[in-house]
Amino acid sequence: MNDKFDDTDFREVIGDSKEEESDTESEHTELEEIPGAGTGENTDNVNLENEYEDICYICHRPESKAGKMIKIPNDICICADCMQKTFDSMNHAGFPLGDMGNFGNMPNISMINLSDLQNMGINMMPRSQKLKKKKAKEEKKEKPVLDIKSIPAPHKIKASLDEYVVGQEYAKKVMSVAVYNHYKRVRSDNLDGVEIEKSNMLMIGPTGSGKTYMVKTLAKLLDVPLAIADATSLTEAGYIGDDIESVVSKLLAAADNDVEKAEHGIIFIDEIDKIAKKKNTNQRDVSGESVQQGMLKLLEGAEIEVPVGANSKNAMVPLATVNTGNILFICGGAFPDLEEIIKERLNKKSSMGFHADLKDKYDKEENLLHRAEVEDIRKYGMIPEFLGRLPIIFALDALTEDMLVRILTEPKNAIVRQYQKLLAMDEVKLDFEEEALQSIAEKAKKKEVGARALRAIIEEFMLDIMYEIPKDDNIGMVTITRDYIENKGGPVIRMRGCLTLEDKSEAAMA
Ligand code: ADP
Repeated sequence: MNDKFDDTDFREVIGDSKEEESDTESEHTELEEIPGAGTGENTDNVNLENEYEDICYICHRPESKAGKMIKIPNDICICADCMQKTFDSMNHAGFPLGDMGNFGNMPNISMINLSDLQNMGINMMPRSQKLKKKKAKEEKKEKPVLDIKSIPAPHKIKASLDEYVVGQEYAKKVMSVAVYNHYKRVRSDNLDGVEIEKSNMLMIGPTGSGKTYMVKTLAKLLDVPLAIADATSLTEAGYIGDDIESVVSKLLAAADNDVEKAEHGIIFIDEIDKIAKKKNTNQRDVSGESVQQGMLKLLEGAEIEVPVGANSKNAMVPLATVNTGNILFICGGAFPDLEEIIKERLNKKSSMGFHADLKDKYDKEENLLHRAEVEDIRKYGMIPEFLGRLPIIFALDALTEDMLVRILTEPKNAIVRQYQKLLAMDEVKLDFEEEALQSIAEKAKKKEVGARALRAIIEEFMLDIMYEIPKDDNIGMVTITRDYIENKGGPVIRMRGCLTLEDKSEAAMA
C-alpha cells in the first residue's frame, strides 16, 4: 500500500492530550504578561520576554531541559527537581514542618532569602544567559474536504471520491449513500421510536482492486479517524494474537486518544474472508468462527473498555470506555472461490424447468461477485448473525487494463503525476506515450494483484531514469516508450535547446 496516506494515520499518542498542553501555555502567558504590565514596559518588551525560557534559580537549567518551572514571587523560577531536593533534605534533617525558624541551620541546602531578592527586579538573569525558546512548529490544520457536521450529500461524497478512485462506480455510489445515512443516524435521536439501523458494510473485491484505498480516501476526505485491522491477526480473547477489542484501541490511538472523536470514526477490517468458519474441524476454531462471534458485540454497538496506548489490557495501562454504537465498521475481503458458490447457485436455478441453460453459461462472466447474495457468503463460512450486522454488501470490479491505465494517470496522486513532479523539480518534463502506459497495464494485469503491481513495475524502469537524468543539466524532456518498458529500446531524450515553448511551459507548470 504505497500511496500517500501511508500508515501515519496510526500515531500512538499516549497520555498527555493536546488540550492539556494548550492549557499550560495559556497559563504561562498570563503569568508572564503581568510583570510587564506592572512595570509599565511596552508590550514589545513583554513579547520579547516571552520568547525567552525561564531558568531554574538553583540549578540554572532552562525550562526545556528541567521541565515545568514553579514560579514564586519576584519572577523567580525553580524547577521541580530542585524543589523536590529541597523537600527531601528538609525531611532528612528531621525538622518538623511548622518549625520554620530553623531552616537556616539545615545541612545540604542553600535557602533562598526572599527578602534579599526583593530589589532585584524582573530582569534578574541577564539576557545573555537565557536560552531562546524553540519556536513551536505551526501546525497547519487543513479544512476537511467534506464536513461531517453538515452531512455532505451522497453525490458530493462520490464526487470527492471520483477525484481519487478510478472506476468502481457502483461501489462508490453504495458507499456514499451508506456514509451519508450513517452520519445522519449519528445526528438523529430516536424519540419518535424510529431507530435507524447502522450501515456497516461488507466489501467484496479481488486483491488490489482498491478496497483499502477507498476506505482510506473516504476517512481522509471526511477527516475522521480510521483504524485498519487485519482479521487474520485477531483471535478469541485469551489466545495468542490480538484481542478483537484491540481494533477499537487502534482507533482511539488514531483519534489522538480523544474518545469522542474515536466514537465517530471508521474501523476497516481487512481479510474478513479469512475468519470464515473452518470446515470439517474438530478443534476449537479460535481464529475463525469465534472471532466472528466476538465481533458481534462491536458491530452492533457496545460500551467497550479498551487499553489506552497499548494493544492488550494489563495493570500498567489506563483504560478508556468507548461506545462503538456510532463507529462505522467496514469489512473487506477477496473471498476467493466465492464465485464457484455463486455459479453453483445460479446453475441450479437455471438448470430447472423449461428455461434450462447450459451448465457453463456463467463460466465466462466477469464480475460474478456482483451477483453475490447473503446466502452465498453464509455458505462460504460467515455466520448469519455476523452477516446480519453488515447490512450493506457490495462488490468491486476486477480491474481491467483500461482501468489500470487510468489509475496510472488520472487520480490526484497518480503514480505518473508523482514522478512528473519529482522530475519537474529538476526542470525536466516527463512524458509517457499512450502505448507505454498500455504496456505497463498489460504487465500489471498478468501479475494478478490488481493495481498493486503498477508501482513495482514503474519503479523498476524509472530507477535508471531517476539516476541518470540529474547527471546532465542539458536534458529537458524524457519520453517513456513502449520499447523501453519492454526492454527493446530506450526512452526518447530531448535536450533543453530543442524543446518547444509549449513543452517548456508544461514542464514549468508541473
Ligand atoms: P485491496 O483491495 O487489496 O485492499 P488496495 O486498496 O490496497 O487493494 O489497493 C492497492 C493500491 O492500488 C492502492 O494503494 C491504490 O494506489 C491503487 N488502486 C487500487 N484500485 C484503485 C482505483 N480504483 N483507483 C485508484 N487507485 C487504485
